[in-house]
Amino acid sequence: MEQITAAELQPKLTKHFAKLINEEHLAHAYIFAGPQGVGKKELALWIAAGLYCPHIKNGEPCLKCTECKRIMEGNQPDVVFIAPEGLSIKVEQIRFLKEEFSKSGVESNRKFFIIQDAEKMTTGAANSLLKFLEEPSGQVTAVLLTTAVNQLLPTVISRCQLLELPALTNSQMTARLEAMKIPKEKALVLGRLTDSVQLAQELAQNANFEELCKNVCQWYLQILQGDWRCFVDVQAKLLPLLSGKKDEQLLLDLIVLLAKDLLLLHYSQKKISFTAFNEKFVKALQPFSTQELVTATELILGTRKRLAVNVSFQNVIEALTLELCRCYHG
Ligand SMILES: [Zn+2]
Repeated sequence: MEQITAAELQPKLTKHFAKLINEEHLAHAYIFAGPQGVGKKELALWIAAGLYCPHIKNGEPCLKCTECKRIMEGNQPDVVFIAPEGLSIKVEQIRFLKEEFSKSGVESNRKFFIIQDAEKMTTGAANSLLKFLEEPSGQVTAVLLTTAVNQLLPTVISRCQLLELPALTNSQMTARLEAMKIPKEKALVLGRLTDSVQLAQELAQNANFEELCKNVCQWYLQILQGDWRCFVDVQAKLLPLLSGKKDEQLLLDLIVLLAKDLLLLHYSQKKISFTAFNEKFVKALQPFSTQELVTATELILGTRKRLAVNVSFQNVIEALTLELCRCYHG
């Protein structure tokens, strides 16, 4: 699987920056803010490639030549990448950066640096960086990446152009997760469960994830088919896969996702996220009206509220099972 590119993750922003590169209107310093996984680093490297690539076309780097590859791999001496050492970015790291950039005879006049997790700069590091931003030597572009822009010093924010990167769409999330070697079927479900790559990765590591998806689908099929084992299976097949509140939350999220998917399947024949079960649900839904599906979805969406007042998760899911059976089968 090829690595996912900035143009796929943030197509609007790469277009925006291509224009700026083309017109040589790039600002001196940027802050890219946004949740983990939205493509902040990819975008920064893409811009760097746009500045050095000899085959640039309308401000867009080719991403294939040696120069582009060196930048993407972190082997271009004029493009410096700084990340926290331990818990913070220390003043020595910023000093090192300044020294690197003051050396003449590195490959070109143009310098580019990226600071990852910029909110982790110590006050000393941030102040040192500020001085650097105030007295730039030559053509220097700085990009600060952060997931917590409110933790940056206001003086740093005011020296930079702040860009908030939008969250990924479902399909971008899925592509991103696939690029991380998560199997397609699993990536599809994860991409629809959350817009946080970090959370999706955590969920992907849950050893019971696939089993839970499968059992949720089978449980719901039993409900639709009026198979009363669905009630027993709450305790026999769903709950044993959960350990702790987080997993309970995940089970609920999966049930909600399935309910929404079934509405979409009913209205617009859109395939459900749990692709292996799509055909079975197409058949199982046939006897039911829109009204029944909507009522069932409302029951499911109301579960979270009931959990807040009811201590027993098992009770809540069993009660939901009975109500769903009543809703579908009278
Ligand atoms: Zn290139």
